Amino acid sequence: MEKVKFLLIEKDTDKVALIDQQLSKRFAYSLVSVVDEKTYVEQLKEYVPDFILANHYTPKTDGKRLVRWRNQIVPNVPFILLTEVVEDDLALEVIKEGASEYIAYEHIVRLAFKVQKLLEQRKLLRERDLAEDRLKKSYKRFQEFVEHDISGDYMEVDDKIVYCNKTVLDIFGFNSIEELNNFNQVNLYDDPEQREEVNSLLRSGKKVVNKELKMRTRTGKPLVIIENAYAELDANGEIKRIQGYLLDITELKNTEASLKESESLFRTLVESSNAGVVIYDQKSFLFSNSVFRKMVGYSEEELLKMHYWDVVHPEFVELTKRRGAERMAGGNPESHYQFKIVGKQGESRWIDFTAGSITFHGKSAAIGTIFDITKLKEAQEELNKFSIIVEQSPLSVMITDMDANIEYVNQAFIENSGYTIEELIGSNPRMLASGETPKEIYTELWKNLTTGIPWKGEFLNKKKSGKKYIDFANIFPVFDENGKIIHYTSIRRDITKEKETELQLSVERIKVEEANRLKTAILTNMSHELRTPLNGILGFSTLISELEDLNEIREMVGYINESGQRLLRTLNLIIDVSRLEAGNFNPKIEQLDLVVITELIINKFKESAQQKGLVLSFDPFEKKCIVESDLKFVTDTLENLLDNSIKYTNEGYIRISINHAERAGKKYKIISVKDTGIGISKENQKLIFEDFQQESVGYGRIYEGTGLGLSIARKYMDLLGGFIELNSEVGKGSEFTIYIPEETKSEK
Ligand code: ADP
Repeated sequence: MEKVKFLLIEKDTDKVALIDQQLSKRFAYSLVSVVDEKTYVEQLKEYVPDFILANHYTPKTDGKRLVRWRNQIVPNVPFILLTEVVEDDLALEVIKEGASEYIAYEHIVRLAFKVQKLLEQRKLLRERDLAEDRLKKSYKRFQEFVEHDISGDYMEVDDKIVYCNKTVLDIFGFNSIEELNNFNQVNLYDDPEQREEVNSLLRSGKKVVNKELKMRTRTGKPLVIIENAYAELDANGEIKRIQGYLLDITELKNTEASLKESESLFRTLVESSNAGVVIYDQKSFLFSNSVFRKMVGYSEEELLKMHYWDVVHPEFVELTKRRGAERMAGGNPESHYQFKIVGKQGESRWIDFTAGSITFHGKSAAIGTIFDITKLKEAQEELNKFSIIVEQSPLSVMITDMDANIEYVNQAFIENSGYTIEELIGSNPRMLASGETPKEIYTELWKNLTTGIPWKGEFLNKKKSGKKYIDFANIFPVFDENGKIIHYTSIRRDITKEKETELQLSVERIKVEEANRLKTAILTNMSHELRTPLNGILGFSTLISELEDLNEIREMVGYINESGQRLLRTLNLIIDVSRLEAGNFNPKIEQLDLVVITELIINKFKESAQQKGLVLSFDPFEKKCIVESDLKFVTDTLENLLDNSIKYTNEGYIRISINHAERAGKKYKIISVKDTGIGISKENQKLIFEDFQQESVGYGRIYEGTGLGLSIARKYMDLLGGFIELNSEVGKGSEFTIYIPEETKSEK
């Protein structure tokens, strides 16, 4: 049994002992006794007694004060006042203050009994209080429950709401039941027919169970309400009382609607996307969109029975299995990567895959987005192939930016230019320029490139070593997808060697052509030149056999001789030409007196000049004119000039003069042959020095000739280091002047 805690204020120790003795008769107790008010108050607070016994006659205080302290500190603790003798009036006053009882010492034997009674009373009181308290609390709980119940509870009697909880008011937006009753309830129904339905159901004695109603708040906001109700009917079968509860599911409905909306959004998104979308777990595919099904060629049903790795290319199965398992175990593996998948027909594709974790039908799963990048991969491979080709190409390849700063060069470029890649990247290609490429080339190049047109051409460039070379370049702009120029690319080839070979070849070709031309000319011109004198020889020699007159015979022999001479000269010319062509015709240098040589030649032609009635005069400026030269060259040249002047002059004179001259600091002896003949047109003055060219070719062969004489003459003068000058006017005459160097070194 619990000990009762007594606090006693009594200064008389005998009385304390007396009380102790009295209490011990009945209780298990503890007793604290004090002697003054101050300690009493302290003990009230610290000891907190279950029972107080206080002697009224305690010095410096009294029963009233002591009971007041009790009231203040431990109000419900029983208080018994102790007096010496029976003093009812005094006790009454103290009891008025709140004391429970009083005992005089003379009756102290009643103490235990009184105490017990008081304790029992107090126990009863306490129990009552507790029960009351519990009742209050449970009522409050019930009230709270009802008031805050998510369902709105109500009771309607004779069409009037007699009770409803706060939820009902809140749902419809009313502040009180009165407000609700004053409002026309019909207006709470969106569809008045629904109200009728509910009422007729109740009238027929049925319960309304989970009926979904479209209703409105006081202010007209739409509501979705679930109604449950039953009614009590009166003797006439009219509704007397309705009891029911409402559930506001407006928000639930809204959420449901937005859920439906977001699901349809997801579906539309997934189905209209050009990405494959799949949801899968470790057991199988759970979802796939049509793009993905098309990619792999399986139907939705088939996929629902397949592991995701069943469509992965064997090379990547292990990787994808590992990552999938890690993801579904809540890990965070690499989520974006590329691998190959294999379709139903066995065809493989490269895909770009992005995975994420989701909850699907309440379970953790993975979602994957898939792009078919097969074409991209192929293009990449193609590109790789091409870059290898470019890198390995023997052609120099260079890519620059828009400002012509080098961004890329291939191996061949590095090797050909001699620069290192570090020196090249970021530099301007003008570092290759030798300075000898004409400016116009660059102008044209940039004009083309800036207008988007490729350019082809040659540069004279320079390697790092300083060696010059001919660069054949193909330069073209590179456009982006919008047609904007973003780079310039050049492909170059060192064509120095080719150019040299080409030059050589063209020289050879010219030579061959020349030889061909010579051959044709011989056949056309020469056949005539050979046949005419031969005909003469044969004709006259036949005639001779029939002649008897010696003079006639002599004349004929003279013709034969002339024809023979002409044939001989032609043959000599041919031989000379071929020797000159072969290039093994070196001058034999000796001392010559041009005056003597000229006189000898003039003598040879005197007769033929006379025959044509031409005056042939000679004017040497000195008696001797010595040169170190080649006799044949000089003689043949002069003979030819004289022969021509007689041939192409029909009247007038032929004047030969010898003089000396200096040209470009070089000393020459000059012989000039001037005639009053047919002259040579300006355009033919150059041509006649070429092989087989005759001024008269164009207008019929009035004059005999091979067309070789002047060309041989020019070649002879070349070999001597001299030249021929010509002054002529058609119809007036010509003057040919040969310049013979005073000294010609013989070639060894
Ligand atoms: P050809 O054997 O025809 O004389 P040449 O080479 O000596 O060949 O001369 C070439 C051509 O130059 C001649 O056919 C002739 O038309 C012209 N020619 C040369 N000398 C004279 C000249 N003194 N007066 C006019 N024409 C000349």
